[in-house]
Amino acid sequence: MSTLFLRTLRDDPADAEVPSHKLLVRAGYVRRAAPGVYSWLPLGLRVLRAVEQVVREEMDAIGAQEILLPALLPRDPYESTGRWTEYGDNLFRLKDRKGADMLLGPTHEELFAQLVKGEYSSYKDLPVILYQVQTKYRDEERPRAGILRGREFVMKDAYSFDLDDDGLKKAYTAHREAYQKIFRRLEVDYVIVAATSGAMGGSASEEFLAESEVGEDTFVRCVESGYAANVEAVVTPAPEPIPFEGLPEAEVHNTPDTPTIDSLVRWANATLDGTFGGHDTLKNVLVKVRQPGGDWEITGIGVPGDREVDMKRLEAALEPAEVEILSDEDFAANPFLVKGYIGPKALAANGVRFLVDPRVVDGTSWITGADQPGKHFVNLVAGRDFTPDGTIEAAEVRDGDPSPDGKGPLVSAKGIEIGHIFQLGQKYTDAFEVDVLGESGKPVRLTMGSYGVGVSRLVAVIAEQCHDEKGLRWPWSVAPFAVHLVIANKDEAAIAGAHQLAEDLDAAGLSVLLDDRKASPGVKFKDAELLGMPVVVVVGRGYANGTIEIRDRFTGEATEVPVDDAVTRVT
Ligand code: ATP
Ligand code: MG
Ligand code: MG
Ligand code: MG
Repeated sequence: MSTLFLRTLRDDPADAEVPSHKLLVRAGYVRRAAPGVYSWLPLGLRVLRAVEQVVREEMDAIGAQEILLPALLPRDPYESTGRWTEYGDNLFRLKDRKGADMLLGPTHEELFAQLVKGEYSSYKDLPVILYQVQTKYRDEERPRAGILRGREFVMKDAYSFDLDDDGLKKAYTAHREAYQKIFRRLEVDYVIVAATSGAMGGSASEEFLAESEVGEDTFVRCVESGYAANVEAVVTPAPEPIPFEGLPEAEVHNTPDTPTIDSLVRWANATLDGTFGGHDTLKNVLVKVRQPGGDWEITGIGVPGDREVDMKRLEAALEPAEVEILSDEDFAANPFLVKGYIGPKALAANGVRFLVDPRVVDGTSWITGADQPGKHFVNLVAGRDFTPDGTIEAAEVRDGDPSPDGKGPLVSAKGIEIGHIFQLGQKYTDAFEVDVLGESGKPVRLTMGSYGVGVSRLVAVIAEQCHDEKGLRWPWSVAPFAVHLVIANKDEAAIAGAHQLAEDLDAAGLSVLLDDRKASPGVKFKDAELLGMPVVVVVGRGYANGTIEIRDRFTGEATEVPVDDAVTRVT
């Protein structure tokens, strides 16, 4: 420590509100360069690298391959997907000397899709998972809490490419499990919640939220059933089944053989006097269709920006399709069917009768129906996204509201997003026409997933979840050093003994931070607590009698042990 590039601060930085920010600055782990832009000093960088290492190991374990793309990017690919505009002020934009538009990458779906298109041409090349650990740029409206919400930050972003939805689901599950391992190894308390896809597009998505009072995400969960969702993604539970008598009836007609969502919407518009307002209000409705000769698949429609494509797929799939009503069990078993669903049997059977419940529940109107009177099932449930007056306005879900699965009340809590996994589907592969030659000789459009971990944010999250009033307390997996060895004895033999002990610990595979400064024991102990290595070893007064002290930074327990036992007692 006498040569370490480190200065600890006694006072909290003026701009810091949350504990992790205060402590990481006071302990000399990071320094602010600009709002939301931070420098990593030696100890901080070691934690960052340790987090990266855990992430890399678990990504490599699922067969993902690491590459590195540029952060400085041309406008074109982001123009192709509409995100040059969609990202708005969050995008760092710049011009090169010739006046060409460029950006600093906020996330890299476009670039990975283009890359795979360029390299791969046959179904034999698939599947593939690629990832990078890279610096991302987002001009956040409110950069906050130091590295917790930076404008420059480190993300692990992975992308899967598959021939079919089955492959995509496998890749998604592999990432989900890898993330569980990562966060367990990092000793983070987290929950997995249903999420919305936001600017990413696609159908299914879940977030990993670290539980924390300083989190900016609110989630709800049902203790009874284990259901958990970001409040942005919560669906109002379906109302009680209603009697059909006295409700308006309508018939859906299209061509004799191919009923479509269009016909349903046209009918609904007519029946409900225009209150549906068209496709745009039918957001996140999911349909399960059996492909001719193929497997069941979930098709999303009405996702913003995705609608046309998915409508085409849906109609193509419907033509000779067999369809099945999703049961409540299907619904409960599939965590992604949270927004609502259509029983496609009703779509396939031409001239089906729908019965309408014109009630408005919680600002949401519901349509229920049956293929024959008396046999009740929910044909179409539109989520909060559509309201009778056509506005899209989600009602806030509150503590105590019933869980959508009906198993108990919802309880809300705050969380910090540490990971996010998406089944993107073909949004990006459509944009760049990423096809390979299929087994049958016909081109196959690839389907894609994307998976992010907030690597630099995790450093703050761990600090947030793991500290006390004295300072940081790193878990072994990411501690900058395993042992903080304090020399608290001026005697030459003790000093030499401490250096020897440091070498012995090092030889036993434990990294050691040796406090050999000419400071008082009190100052050294305070710094050891602030810096937060898991074990503090003190070579102090007892050294003359052949003992040293081992302090556990987690429990606060201190034990006197013989010098000769020191290495075995620490390991
Ligand atoms: P948030 O909701 O916190 O703004 P996000 O949903 O915009 O995050 P994603 O696009 O899903 O973020 O990116 C993947 C991961 O990158 C997030 O789960 C998060 O851990 C991390 N991340 C996103 N924005 C930041 C940021 N400004 N600073 C640090 N980490 C970030
Ligand atoms: Mg964000
Ligand atoms: Mg988010
Ligand atoms: Mg996210």
